[in-house]
Amino acid sequence: MAQTEDLEVDGLVIREVTTGESDKVITLLTAKHGRITITGKGVSSMKNRHAASAQLFSYSTFQLHKRGNFWYIRDTFFIECFMNIRYDVEKLALANYVCDVASDFALENVEDPELLSLTLNTLYAIANLDKIPLEQIKGAFEFRAAVQGGFMPDLYGCAVCGCEDEAEYSLDVMNGRILCKKCRTLVENDPSFIEDPSAKIFIRITQPVLQALRYIEAAGTKKFLSFTLDKVELSLFAVICERYLLNHLEHGFTSLEYYKNIKI
Ligand SMILES: [Zn+2]
Repeated sequence: MAQTEDLEVDGLVIREVTTGESDKVITLLTAKHGRITITGKGVSSMKNRHAASAQLFSYSTFQLHKRGNFWYIRDTFFIECFMNIRYDVEKLALANYVCDVASDFALENVEDPELLSLTLNTLYAIANLDKIPLEQIKGAFEFRAAVQGGFMPDLYGCAVCGCEDEAEYSLDVMNGRILCKKCRTLVENDPSFIEDPSAKIFIRITQPVLQALRYIEAAGTKKFLSFTLDKVELSLFAVICERYLLNHLEHGFTSLEYYKNIKI
């Protein structure tokens, strides 16, 4: 007889793929069990009582039942769906990208409450906090996701000489550190460093952006958006956060390309 198992879990739908006429394979992000893939029988049909819970960006309590290797829905209790995301194409595109990044970091059967909290708070901000520019929400999420995912840079002073009060530094992306102008020149000319060009990604970083990144590193998943940058600094911040995340993940996202295309 096939082994069966029951599970009750709060989960956010971060991916949905329609299969057949009204079935879906959905991916849940959970605090205790990481990523869970579920077969949702009939949930594409709006008449289905689990349809609201089984759609992208919905956060619900799921009662699941495992048969063989597959999880099936026994019952759902809807909590939240960040409705305002669906009324704006730019918000919708950004939320899709956020879920793709979360899916990239989430592992099956690995507890990660911070990733769920970060993703839920980011979706909430996209949906409801219109005073915060989407560029800022996107960048802060990208940088925070990278930090939580194990790519925490050391942003406290030049990694070589230790100086802390230069107006500008270079972020040495792949080595997760900052360098002052003088030390960057030294590092760039160091023969051992030249041997691996893929590790050589430097981006100019100013004090206000540096302070924003330090704030995000220290802030936790609830207050990571509570900072302000002027327009010019925000553009630099956005470039740095995106490049920092993508270079460490070593791949791009179709959903990110889509988001950028609709912004133009
Ligand atoms: Zn230095």
